[in-house]
Amino acid sequence: MRVGVLALQGDFREHVGALSHCQVQAIEVRRVSELESIDALVIPGGESTTIVSLAKTFEVFEPIKKRIAAGMPVYGSCAGMIMLANQIVAAKEGQETFGGIDITVRRNAFGRQIDSFESDVIAPAISNSTIRAVFIRAPWVEKVGKDVEVLATYTGTDGVSHAVAVRQGHLLATAFHPEITDDYSVHRYFLEKVCK
Ligand code: GLN
Repeated sequence: MRVGVLALQGDFREHVGALSHCQVQAIEVRRVSELESIDALVIPGGESTTIVSLAKTFEVFEPIKKRIAAGMPVYGSCAGMIMLANQIVAAKEGQETFGGIDITVRRNAFGRQIDSFESDVIAPAISNSTIRAVFIRAPWVEKVGKDVEVLATYTGTDGVSHAVAVRQGHLLATAFHPEITDDYSVHRYFLEKVCK
């Protein structure tokens, strides 16, 4: 199985590193030819509005959308979660996504950059231990469709528990960044459960 990491903007190098810890030599994807060579894709954290605009410039926006709709396994962290959501709240005007997961995410839900934090989250489907979760200007999930499995929740600044890790079939998304920790359980779950 050939795994790609969308390498237009954001922390794609960290995802390549996390995958290599899982014995997978990932390919950086910027062009259609690279997209065509992979079986699964990781969309990094970063800035979703920039990822959209660069994906259009590099002419991979529609091709990625089509591959997702055709069943390619994809994991998105943070901005990557936003890119996989069917709907966004607090979006930049006209902001598009690749879509695929029937969720509504709120961008920058936990606050501004300065409100970034780390915490342990429980996600029994992914790991028997807690997962170290780093939230950086993270989204949370506000609405979940009936086919979406909630893998982890976290109580937001509004005192309400929100989904922060979700799966819908071949698509996985986390509001946090496992790629910048040395906990590889989310990447392993993606490779071993979502991609198979
Ligand atoms: N707030 C960013 C966005 O809207 C996501 C931040 C992140 O990926 N760490 O895309």
